[in-house]
Amino acid sequence: MKVIDIVKKNKLLTGVFLAYAFLFIAMPDKAYLSVSNSMYYIIEMLEIMPVIFILTSIIEAWVPKEMIINGFGEKAGIKGSIFSFLLGSFSAGPIYAAFPICKMLLKKGASVSNVVIILSAWAVIKVPMLANEAKFLGVQFMGVRWILTVIAILIMSYLVAAFVKKESVPMLQEQDLNQITCVDIKEQYCIGCGLCEKLLPQHFEMADKKAKWKESILSHEQIDRIKSIMNKCPAKAIGFR
Ligand code: SF4
Repeated sequence: MKVIDIVKKNKLLTGVFLAYAFLFIAMPDKAYLSVSNSMYYIIEMLEIMPVIFILTSIIEAWVPKEMIINGFGEKAGIKGSIFSFLLGSFSAGPIYAAFPICKMLLKKGASVSNVVIILSAWAVIKVPMLANEAKFLGVQFMGVRWILTVIAILIMSYLVAAFVKKESVPMLQEQDLNQITCVDIKEQYCIGCGLCEKLLPQHFEMADKKAKWKESILSHEQIDRIKSIMNKCPAKAIGFR
């Protein structure tokens, strides 16, 4: 019974283990090659990730939430996009090093679209890479590719933010929810039906036919009630900041 529970909890790891077992039986030469490649990446990650985790912890502890919201949040506008491009472009290290940093930024108030920009810029428009690209392929090639890539990233960030709501990100569904103190209402989507105010008047109020959030600290129980109001909102205008 315990083994089944462990397998259920570690489906990906179990799948990898079974794939290796199959390879060692059916194609041992490929299995040794796979192990050697895996070891290369594990060693690379062990060299990089401790530094990234320390950096993430320092930013998480020392950079105020308001600063992240102002710089990278929903309302940061074009400034948020520029900061995100700069952060991604001047970063160092492989793309997987960006994930814990982006998770921390999301937790502290960065918007989904700006996180997409950071990840994409980190992956494809790093400044040292641009210098090498210009050297080997020419300045014109590099410049045109950079402009088209930036346009593509902006479109992608807009689309991802339209389809992926912050509250659907797994790390914001569990223990981290009790750190959320603010609800974000997208006024452009709100149709002014007043349902949220009727169901939770201590947190929502109507003004100029739009729902407004009354700033307050949320208990775990209130967060659950707000999540149910999010689902009931006909315009899907309510989210966590
Ligand atoms: S339930 Fe949604 S659409 Fe209705 S007032 Fe509240 S935020 Fe606006």
